[in-house]
Amino acid sequence: CFPPKPASGRLRRGAGSQPKAEGEEQAQESCAICMDKISEKVTLPKCKHEFCKVCIDKSMQYKPACPVCNTFYGCAKGNQPDGSMSFTTGYFSLPGYPKCNTLVINYHIPNGIQSKDHPNPGKPYHGTNRTAYLPDNTEGREIQGLLKKAFNQKLIFTVGQSRTSGVDDVVTWNDIHHKTQRHGGPQQFGYPDPNYLKRVREELKAKGIE
Ligand SMILES: [Zn+2]
Ligand SMILES: [Zn+2]
Repeated sequence: CFPPKPASGRLRRGAGSQPKAEGEEQAQESCAICMDKISEKVTLPKCKHEFCKVCIDKSMQYKPACPVCNTFYGCAKGNQPDGSMSFTTGYFSLPGYPKCNTLVINYHIPNGIQSKDHPNPGKPYHGTNRTAYLPDNTEGREIQGLLKKAFNQKLIFTVGQSRTSGVDDVVTWNDIHHKTQRHGGPQQFGYPDPNYLKRVREELKAKGIE
């Protein structure tokens, strides 16, 4: 999470660990926000871009992302209601992944009362039970780990209007797409969908999960 501790020149890792083009190294001498020489240099931990402390602090207040490359630095915490996430192995393969088993994700969000972070505090909301599928291969297991992280940060669900039924005060997905069917392709929220894992990784990244 931001703010990172201001990195002094001495604490930076040796040049060998972060190979960079020479032009890039030179460009970093000036701050991309004020265009001036960097004062009180702050090096962002993930993307290594450098700014004046004052400049980046102000920028992060407005948006928790690197102004140069847009790497996310927020501590995103959503308003997903309490619930549970569990996994089982399905001994079947998904269309497009004939050689592996399937990871079955079960979400259980019971009914509850909306908090001040929800659209209608004090009113009840309708919970949900959802099942989603991932291929049980290296990439699928990575996505599983990221989804678990997103769930712990309360980012998978939210309370609002159901996009499918239009009903208010229900627990709904929160922009991280899941495959809730095994078959039928993208139109049916199922497989095959060769780009799904890549897409969901991007959706997670947009929420700071990577
Ligand atoms: Zn600056
Ligand atoms: Zn950056």
